[in-house]
Amino acid sequence: MKRKIILYLLSLFFFFSAGAITASVYIQNTTLELARLIKLHQIEDLRQHLIMSIQTVQSDLYTVGTSMGKNLDSIVQNVSELEKNAKNCLSCHHEPEIAKNLDDMLVLINDYQGALSQYITASANFERIDNLKFDAGRRGNLILVITETMSVKASEKLRSMTHSVMQKITRAKIILYLTIVLSLLLGVFIAAKLTMFITKPVNELVTAARAVAMGEVGDTISYQDKTEFGELADVFNRMSLSLEKGYTALHDEIIERKKTEEALRQSEERYAIAARGANDGLWDWNLGMNKVYFSDRWKSMLGYDENDVGNNPEEWFNLVHPDDRKDFQVRVSAHIEGLTSHLECEYRILHKDGTYRWILNRGLAVRDIGGKAYRMAGSQTDITERKIAEEQLIYDAFHDALTGLPNRALFMDRLQHRLRQAQKNSQRHPDYLFAVLFFDLDRFKVINDSLGHIVGDHLLIAVSQRLTQLVRPGDTVARLGGDEFAMILEDLKDREHVEQITGRIEKDLALPFYIDGNEIFTTASIGISLSSPDYDRPEEMVRDADIAMYQVKSRGKANHEVFEAGMYTSTVARLHLETDLRKAVEHQEFVMHYQPIMELSSDRLIGFEALVRWNHPQRGLIYPMDFIPLAEETGLIIQIGEWIINESCRQLSAWRTQYEDYSNLKVSVNISSRQFLQHDLPDKIMSILGRNNIEGKSITLEITESMLMENFDAAIAVLNRLQAIGMHIHLDDFGTGYSSLSYIHRFPVNALKIDRSFIEKMHQDDENMQIVKTIIALAHNLNLDLIAEGLETSEQVLQLKDLNCHYGQGFFLSRPMNAAAIETWMGRKHAKFLSIKLPGSGNKA
Ligand code: C2E
Ligand code: MG
Ligand code: MG
Repeated sequence: MKRKIILYLLSLFFFFSAGAITASVYIQNTTLELARLIKLHQIEDLRQHLIMSIQTVQSDLYTVGTSMGKNLDSIVQNVSELEKNAKNCLSCHHEPEIAKNLDDMLVLINDYQGALSQYITASANFERIDNLKFDAGRRGNLILVITETMSVKASEKLRSMTHSVMQKITRAKIILYLTIVLSLLLGVFIAAKLTMFITKPVNELVTAARAVAMGEVGDTISYQDKTEFGELADVFNRMSLSLEKGYTALHDEIIERKKTEEALRQSEERYAIAARGANDGLWDWNLGMNKVYFSDRWKSMLGYDENDVGNNPEEWFNLVHPDDRKDFQVRVSAHIEGLTSHLECEYRILHKDGTYRWILNRGLAVRDIGGKAYRMAGSQTDITERKIAEEQLIYDAFHDALTGLPNRALFMDRLQHRLRQAQKNSQRHPDYLFAVLFFDLDRFKVINDSLGHIVGDHLLIAVSQRLTQLVRPGDTVARLGGDEFAMILEDLKDREHVEQITGRIEKDLALPFYIDGNEIFTTASIGISLSSPDYDRPEEMVRDADIAMYQVKSRGKANHEVFEAGMYTSTVARLHLETDLRKAVEHQEFVMHYQPIMELSSDRLIGFEALVRWNHPQRGLIYPMDFIPLAEETGLIIQIGEWIINESCRQLSAWRTQYEDYSNLKVSVNISSRQFLQHDLPDKIMSILGRNNIEGKSITLEITESMLMENFDAAIAVLNRLQAIGMHIHLDDFGTGYSSLSYIHRFPVNALKIDRSFIEKMHQDDENMQIVKTIIALAHNLNLDLIAEGLETSEQVLQLKDLNCHYGQGFFLSRPMNAAAIETWMGRKHAKFLSIKLPGSGNKA
């Protein structure tokens, strides 16, 4: 800026100087011109004087003749005056032409002077005087002419010079005026410019500085130049930007801090709310100072007041149940040492009321950079309820809900434990003996079915109590399921000792139970396995006891057996049979035999009972009693049963085609319990009937009473559906089951089949005869048909005829035969009965 100001002032100075110089040059020039002009005017005056001198001399000359004497002196004076003036003129500056004229004039004047001198001196000679006078006059005239001419020229010159000088003076004046005015303007301009140069950046700076002062940091000014202001603006801009940067950083930091503070506040608030609202108690352990902070909730959930518990960790550990303390301390140490990712421990802790509460303690250590824990915090949750529930669950998982006895799982666990003990102590006590007893209540199903499940359940409870009372402490009684119980009898002397105890149990069990107003007798089939080093797993001992029990069952129940290796063989044999039976189903190894059912009064054939046989590839024909129970157990009966119904229908259909007059023949098919329980049995039967083009009324189903009793309502529903398609239902083996006569009328059955065992013993004792008579009377009362099974003798036939039993079947009438044999039999022996009267026409059968 300084330079700018200097530059501006210099330029003003130079401008003014230039103007002044120019004006002074003009003035100087004009001054010289004026001096010359003055001189020229003096010359002109001289010339005028010269002219006047000449004119005076001339006039003197011309007047001499009259007054010569007197004027001659004046002529001489005037001529000398002239000469003087002419010489003066010579000193003036003339143009060369004028100077020459002047020189000429001087010569002339000299000549004129000479001529005059001669004229004056030649006074005696008039002529010559005249001549001289004339010559002087002529010369005077010539000088006059020259001088006048010169004067004219000089006047002109003077005029033009005066004009020129006047012009110059005017110009100088103008230049001077202009210089002054322009200098003034320039000065004003420079002042304005300089003012502008200073105020603009200053204003901008002031505005920007004000903005910064108001907080608008980062504002910059656009002003830019190389002056101090430009530098100032640049510095200001940098300062403002740097301020802005700093301000932004500061602002960001403040915001960041605020956020952190807010997060911290929220976190603390959350913690406070959580601590207040949480059901859990919180603890915070400063490991460095070894002080623990316990939240109010921590204390209150254990019944303690604010000051009841200090901040010493030892105090805490001491509250933990002695049995759990060690584990807790070990876990705490492990976590502090960084061996576990977190602390988790369940323990009992002393409540103020003296009881122990179950606690789940979870915690986490905070570590420094070196991984050393300096603080640990966590929560304690009261899990007492859960623990109780868990214990209950565990108890339930290992106990039978009905009797409260250990269940199979617990029994197996104890047995396993027992076996391990035995193995461990085999050196010290090689003769230590214990036994597993496997009980199955005889006839329980019948009791259950007839007296109801509630009575059945109560009986099971009573049995379990009686068994528990019979054993010594340390022995185990368990219910394995259904009517199966088991025992572990410890510390036995020998086999006899076991049998002795078992005998006592049997005796006690045989005593009547009084349940819900019923006097119930029950027995048990008991299998026993004795401990032996051969047993590794509890399942093996239970399996053998089970096999022994099975043996008892097959030998007539209500007894006990100690397991022997041979029993295992028979069980294995059963297993083989099962495998073979599966194959038999696959390869269709079954055949149907048919046993005729006759009308006793007329000896007419009314139908057949279809009886299945298994044509075993190695063992030959196997009878149903040897495989049907197994088929029932394994469920194979479903497939076998379906085949039987289909085969019977197919055969009946074939016979009908073959023997047109046997169009009323019926076939009775035996249905097993499991088969009967299928809910879609009626649909299956209907589809088989349809497939073989057989009507429902041609097929009779033989079921037993116990099958009906098992599921009373469902059985009735099934029977109704079957009867709806015309099928007949016969109650097989009637009299052997635990039947309740009061129920019979409610079953939609058509006939009773008197069991073979009654017929067989009918003539041996009166009791059986009475039973047969009662059954016949019952059937008549209920309007049911009767079929006597197992007629082996003519007496039996006659007797039953007498008793008004309409129908019968038995070896006496015909053995069961295969289809081909039946055809031969029919053709040979019964050709006369081609026209058959249907049994039960007009009655239900
Ligand atoms: P059940 O239904 O009472 O059949 C009558 C049984 O008595 C048949 O034995 C038959 O051969 C036999 N029997 C007939 N008359 C006499 C006789 O005068 N004296 C003697 N001692 N026995 C006679 P089987 O064929 O061995 O059948 C035994 C049981 O097997 C049948 O008793 C029945 O409950 C069942 N069963 C037979 N076939 C089938 C079948 O196809 N399906 C189902 N589920 N069970 C069948
Ligand atoms: Mg039968
Ligand atoms: Mg029978």
